[in-house]
Amino acid sequence: MSEDAPATALRAQAIDQSFGDVDVLSGVSLSVARGEVAAIVGPNGSGKSTLLHILAGIAAPDGGSVAVPREAAGARSVGYLPQRPAFRDGFSARDTLGFYAQLLDGVDDEDVAATLDRVGLGGVADRSVGSLSGGMTRLLGLGQAVLGEPSVLILDEPGSGLDPAMVERLFGVVGDLAADGTAVVVASHELPAVETHADTVYVLDAGDFAASGSPAELLTETDTDSLSEAFLRIV
Ligand code: ADP
Ligand code: MG
Repeated sequence: MSEDAPATALRAQAIDQSFGDVDVLSGVSLSVARGEVAAIVGPNGSGKSTLLHILAGIAAPDGGSVAVPREAAGARSVGYLPQRPAFRDGFSARDTLGFYAQLLDGVDDEDVAATLDRVGLGGVADRSVGSLSGGMTRLLGLGQAVLGEPSVLILDEPGSGLDPAMVERLFGVVGDLAADGTAVVVASHELPAVETHADTVYVLDAGDFAASGSPAELLTETDTDSLSEAFLRIV
């Protein structure tokens, strides 16, 4: 690797995963560099969540390997935002993250406050989580995932069920985190946001990536004007 090449933050090689007779993932490989936003797109049931669980270390694959190189790892190596984050009502946003911070080495109240500011929830830090909108709840989940400054951030459909303005806001925060060096892997159906914010797009279909490249490369390859059109040509 040349000295100028961005450091690899996450490397998955030849991931296989079956459920019963169904081969959901067959030899899936990807590498994500520090500061890169990699988007996984694909039809429902194509295995995006299954892949993210494996990348996040929540589930062991049937075959293959996942590595988070040590030199890239901070206090916490991987942060993960599930598709439907759930928080216990009755606690404030601040206390929710404060409680979680106790599980992480060296993360204190100041870090919690900085994280709430970072995801745009500084103004509602002391409101009960039950009173937050769906979008704010998702931003709180993003805050929980980035507490402890993981080198890799894995997001499963962070924009689902949110209005376009909130999707933009959320992807904006994700872009800021990547600009500071975080490697991001995000599964998303929000193709306009993916086109704007992703550095690399991986199209998952029938067990492996049917195409991958920058949004511009995918448009050129498919001779289309938008990632939504390109997606329809590929899958
Ligand atoms: P996506 O996130 O792209 O919609 P998933 O990864 O959730 O896809 O699911 C991919 C396929 O694997 C689906 O057919 C789903 O039913 C199946 N699947 C996922 N998890 C399990 C599981 N724990 N047991 C059995 N089948 C599963
Ligand atoms: Mg899914």
